[in-house]
Amino acid sequence: MQSTATRILDGKATAKAVRTEVAERVRELRAAGVVPGLTVVLVGDDPASEVYVRNKDRAAAEAGFAVKTLKLSASTAQAELERIVDQLNADRAVHGILVQLPLPAGLRSDPVLQRLDPAKDVDGLHPANVAALWTGAPGLVPCTPAGCIEILDRHGIEIAGRRAVVIGRSILVGKPLAALLLARHATVTVAHSRSRDLPAVAREGEILVAAVGRARLVKGDWIRPGAVVLDVGINRGEDGKLCGDVDHDAAQGVAAAITPVPGGIGPMTIAMLLANTARAAARSAGLDGEGRRLSS
Ligand code: NAD
Repeated sequence: MQSTATRILDGKATAKAVRTEVAERVRELRAAGVVPGLTVVLVGDDPASEVYVRNKDRAAAEAGFAVKTLKLSASTAQAELERIVDQLNADRAVHGILVQLPLPAGLRSDPVLQRLDPAKDVDGLHPANVAALWTGAPGLVPCTPAGCIEILDRHGIEIAGRRAVVIGRSILVGKPLAALLLARHATVTVAHSRSRDLPAVAREGEILVAAVGRARLVKGDWIRPGAVVLDVGINRGEDGKLCGDVDHDAAQGVAAAITPVPGGIGPMTIAMLLANTARAAARSAGLDGEGRRLSS
């Protein structure tokens, strides 16, 4: 049964609003003598990663950050990559370090993430930041889940007390998003590749998040009428175009609201990376006594 029109949650416009606020914070930091520095480490030549990194560089430069990308060859040794992380940890001009994942085959990400100074870990993947997220202590929150919460908040969408279903349990998206939704008093279900009767589980969600990486996996009848749908997936469809994990045509008239792909969670992720870097810079200079988290 078709109901009212589905509202599009415009991530591009929302991210722009966040970036404008971050740029203002950067101006204040610069006036206090701190130039927030972000260094992105890109190993190998994965084309999708190169596009992400280019967009990150541009947004960071526009917002007033000193941004640098270290491009390393796919044949970089594990020890060399870890030595570079050590150098960036010690560099006082660098407040945020982002190691672009996935790393090329043969390189292990865990030892690299564990080596990061947690105070500079703007992707929030160091074990200390993961622990902070689950215990409610101040820390840096992974950018994509933080962007999911931010887009809900900025559209006045209630989280507390609602049923949230997250499909996907990666350390980058699904798990940290579950922690954030829980911290905001949602009742959270995390579904994954081994979940039985996924459509029925998905239909329980008043807030439904798809973070899987399968083009148009979520059909119209998986969506509870009136649900808010966040489509995190970025896939290449059979037609060669970018598409999400949700069948957007089928979601029309069923979901109350949905994030588009592209132009939804992707731009929010970059905006939250900048917010995290500004926060890391402020904390390093003792200018953020509260250690407040934007999405806590
Ligand atoms: P991942 O591959 O690490 O994790 C995918 C998760 O989906 C796994 O936990 C798995 O259990 C689950 N899954 C796989 N197949 C499934 C199925 N058939 N049914 C139910 N669950 C299934 O991926 P990720 O890093 O979490 O990314 C997920 C998607 O989000 C990808 O498309 C990725 O490109 C996209 N992504 C987007 C952004 C952004 O900025 N918008 C950021 C990160 C990731």
